[in-house]
Amino acid sequence: MSEFDFDLFVIGGGSGGVRAARMAAQRGARVALAEARGLPGLGGTCVTLGCIPKKLYRYAAAYAHAFTEARGYGWQVPTPPFDWARLRQRRAAEVARLNGVYETLLRNAGVTLLLGQARLHDAHTVTVRTRHPDGSATEQHWRARHILVATGGIPHVPHFHGREHVITSNEVFDLEPFPQRLVVVGGGYIACEFASIFHGLGAQVTLLYRGEQILRGFDDEVRHYLAAELVREGIDLRLRSGVVAVQRADGGLRVQLEDGAQLDADAVLYATGRVPNVAGLGLETVGVAQGALGAIVVDEHFRTNVPSIYALGDVTARVQLTPVALAEAMALVDHLFGPPPGAGPRHARYDLIPTAVFTDPEVATVGWTQEQALQRCDAVRIYRSIFRPLRHTLSGRAARTLVKLLVDDASDRVVGLHMVGSEAAEIVQGFAVALRAGATKAEFDATLGIHPTVAEEFVTLR
Ligand code: FAD
Ligand code: NDP
Repeated sequence: MSEFDFDLFVIGGGSGGVRAARMAAQRGARVALAEARGLPGLGGTCVTLGCIPKKLYRYAAAYAHAFTEARGYGWQVPTPPFDWARLRQRRAAEVARLNGVYETLLRNAGVTLLLGQARLHDAHTVTVRTRHPDGSATEQHWRARHILVATGGIPHVPHFHGREHVITSNEVFDLEPFPQRLVVVGGGYIACEFASIFHGLGAQVTLLYRGEQILRGFDDEVRHYLAAELVREGIDLRLRSGVVAVQRADGGLRVQLEDGAQLDADAVLYATGRVPNVAGLGLETVGVAQGALGAIVVDEHFRTNVPSIYALGDVTARVQLTPVALAEAMALVDHLFGPPPGAGPRHARYDLIPTAVFTDPEVATVGWTQEQALQRCDAVRIYRSIFRPLRHTLSGRAARTLVKLLVDDASDRVVGLHMVGSEAAEIVQGFAVALRAGATKAEFDATLGIHPTVAEEFVTLR
């Protein structure tokens, strides 16, 4: 009889936790997974309150342009009314379906599902508190050889007068009624995406960012280009703009700005970053070391300073993206239980992570920004083009596309690839393989385009 109930106990049923649990169970390990939000939480932030519902709303917003563009192509369609309640209900049903898919995947892999809030009791024991429909709660202790903390992150809202009136991305999906006037605070992924989505759905949107330019960390030209496009689309983007207070007024909200201006809004969305979700986990009890904002500190094998406890994904506050959490989970499982038959162990790599911001127009990028390339290479060749896609010659839309390549002059390798325009994420995903393979500019040049496409611009830049 083993001294442990499980070989691996996973706390958190999000992107990283589900993947780790499923892979470990398929490798023959005895695995349990605890999810605090119960079955509707399976899949975590990405499925329930992040990537998936966000992208569904992005698709919904895109129809606004599709209806008007269609007229340029001969379709005499009036713009139909938008039904927000129906979109919410359809999104909720799809998310529930996906929660069920995750449950099935886990159960089929033989993972023991525990629906409740977990906390660390000691280095090998997890306590799970389950609430029952009658309001009572029970606690159970489980012993595990390894424990994985994959509890993700939560939105961070700074302190200011009237903080209780604002919402975060957690609430935005189910806003009722539809906000005709939306103020968004922040300049990162979530702020830009939701400003653009709600603008597309018909809201009057003001985007307030405290700094000089949105999307800090992205290529400067991309940042300026996107900002100009968002303004051209009709978003009221205010840079160097801070909020002093939010108060209730005239049946809505009034936002007082640092420059003395005030804005009336139906909803105020704060998208000012996310912090590790560590409250009540018992990290201090067990002595797990934490860094800034409570992030769990791990080594290259995701091990904390307590040798039986591991952590990955957003709770480690490194790169907060689903594919990164998935890659980390697979690397951890290979490390703990060995790689799949016939394969070598996988390692999570943090270079060349492709990423996209699902605004309209979309931003997608892989590799270095121009600023990074100039710092890291002796000489950089910069290729860029801003052009009107064929589609918009008849659509009547003024939208243009930016494509940009950064090449290390010495090696001829493409070290950065950036795009702002329709389908940028779909296009850059393919080119990410080329950068991972170390493609040179000469190899881009030797690649034939698919004509006529937007993506062919990347192989015809001279
Ligand atoms: P999570 O997915 O957050 O999962 C953590 C889980 O742990 C949750 O289900 C939580 O309920 C559970 N949990 C927490 N505490 C406990 C406890 N004590 N006991 C039991 N369970 C617990 N990334 C992309 O790559 N592309 C995108 O387009 C994208 N869009 C996003 C849009 C939004 C609005 C947001 C908020 C995020 C988005 N992300 C996107 C980021 C992505 O969702 C995260 O990086 C990813 O979900 C991290 O996975 P994780 O496993 O670390 O944590
Ligand atoms: P980000 O870290 O991307 O952006 C936070 C923004 O809020 C920044 O513009 C930041 O400004 C600003 N900010 C921070 N603190 C304050 C404050 N006190 N007052 C005013 N502004 C403030 O976080 P998000 O919340 O947008 O998203 C969290 C993470 O989730 C992302 O980093 C990303 O990893 C992931 N995500 C990925 C998506 C995708 O892949 N498409 C989509 C959505 C989220 P400053 O730049 O000056 O610090």
